[in-house]
Amino acid sequence: MQVDLQAHLADIDDVLAIYARGTHTIDANGYAAMMLARTALRRAIAAEAELKQLKSGTYCAYCGHTEPIDGDGERIAEHIRTCEKHPMRAVEARVKELEAEIANLRDSAY
Ligand SMILES: [Zn+2]
Repeated sequence: MQVDLQAHLADIDDVLAIYARGTHTIDANGYAAMMLARTALRRAIAAEAELKQLKSGTYCAYCGHTEPIDGDGERIAEHIRTCEKHPMRAVEARVKELEAEIANLRDSAY
């Protein structure tokens, strides 16, 4: 069952607003409990939003680029093939250096 966290937060804010008007009183423990519940609800709302984002998209860990999740991951894979900050670029550069060195050695050997 989906809990409506926003509705619970709104209820607490409504009650706190009533106490703030001074027509009703609340003891320190009751107030502290309401503030704790409010903080917990805000954290839960933020976590819910983050989870929704994580389920709908993925990101490059090296540059933060985001892509919506697709069936086979081809969109983020395409980004990784071209991302300048991805460590594969350094590996590819080193492979090119080594291949050039090999080609030079072969040329000078014959
Ligand atoms: Zn990237």
